[in-house]
Amino acid sequence: MYDCIIVGAGPAGGTAAYHLAKQGRSVLILEKESLPRYKPCGGGVSPAIAQWFDFDFSPVISVKANTIRCTWNMGDPVEVQLETPEPVWMVRRDVFDHFLVQQAQKQGAELKDNTEVLGIEFKSDHWQVNTSNGSITGRYLIAADGAKGPMAKWLGFKERKRRLAGALEAEATTQVTNSNIIDFEFGLVKNGYVWNFPKADGYSIGVGTFIGGEPQDFKKILDEYGKSFNINLSTCKQYGHALCLWNGEQTLHTQNAVLAGEAACVVDPMTAEGIRPSIYSGLKASEAIGKALSGDVNALDNYTNVMNEEWGSDMAWAAKIAGLFYRFPKVGYKVGIKRPSGPQLMGKILCGELRYGDVAGRAIKRLTPFG
Ligand SMILES: Cc1cc2nc3c(=O)[nH]c(=O)nc-3n(C[C@H](O)[C@H](O)[C@H](O)COP(=O)(O)OP(=O)(O)OC[C@H]3O[C@@H](n4cnc5c(N)ncnc54)[C@H](O)[C@@H]3O)c2cc1C
Repeated sequence: MYDCIIVGAGPAGGTAAYHLAKQGRSVLILEKESLPRYKPCGGGVSPAIAQWFDFDFSPVISVKANTIRCTWNMGDPVEVQLETPEPVWMVRRDVFDHFLVQQAQKQGAELKDNTEVLGIEFKSDHWQVNTSNGSITGRYLIAADGAKGPMAKWLGFKERKRRLAGALEAEATTQVTNSNIIDFEFGLVKNGYVWNFPKADGYSIGVGTFIGGEPQDFKKILDEYGKSFNINLSTCKQYGHALCLWNGEQTLHTQNAVLAGEAACVVDPMTAEGIRPSIYSGLKASEAIGKALSGDVNALDNYTNVMNEEWGSDMAWAAKIAGLFYRFPKVGYKVGIKRPSGPQLMGKILCGELRYGDVAGRAIKRLTPFG
């Protein structure tokens, strides 16, 4: 019987496993893919995550990007050098996620990859987890199975306040890029943006929309955008994936189990940043389950409260700003982004130097028509 079984070996699961194993708990990670596995993602990581670990991420940082460039319909550019102490990290997710799991394994966590969870049953005081490789038992469960995983439903979270968004990503491999510029394009797609994030050996180029609307031809948009960088994306494999955006306060715990990462709908509705909040929720989940294992009966309730207070309260501001910005993006681009302070603020938020709450008053005033 494990102290905790974690389903999913992404950033949320890897983080929870690392911290629980470090506490001396017996931990098993179950992952349906074989590691390292591909995950459609821009791979832009906030350097703020460093504060939650005692090891160095340098081996898996492909590029440190210190410049943000934004465009509208591939013109009208604004480019700023970030003034943050540490630039934004660019990673390949297969490498980054596997590294995190390997750090957890070094602390004693066990991994069974190629092992899909097929169902769960609560047995009076523990969980039985049925997998493609047999059944396993654990006292606590962490559902870290991402946007598409089945765990939240199985745990009884049926009526969740989640808001789904969609994105398409392609990884272009080239010789050496030498680029440290993060590109955001706002005019080509409605209700979202197109991005080009540099990697040492290529780019991640993708498109996402965050507040719904009519269907759009993502492939065509990506092809057109890729051409502006002399990249032929029609020859690269393109991967679609859902995003679970934070959509208001939510309960994230149940009997001996918690939701973490995108299974907990933690994604920032303005930028679609999901790695940092997934890691944060993995950390908080590990702390809560550690306390529950030591007999604290309120520990899992507290996890829900901490996530709503610490992350959710700022995401409420992000959602407000996103609602205004993406509804009138041309105005938003002009008044919010075109001036150099716009991308600079975006960079500070991404790097964890500022919270949305710090800039919301000013941003909402600027983005409100005739406000
Ligand atoms: C196109 C795109 C671009 C993005 N770009 C960025 C970005 O640049 N920066 C950023 O911060 N965020 C980005 N995000 C968001 C980010 O990728 C996610 O929020 C993040 O990966 C969530 O981490 P996680 O650990 O919760 O889940 P995941 O990373 O999705 O991992 C979940 C794991 O669970 C496994 N799993 C699922 N079901 C089962 C099962 N039944 N049994 C066993 N294992 C299972 C999956 O195989 C997977 O490995 C992007 C998202 C998309 C779609």
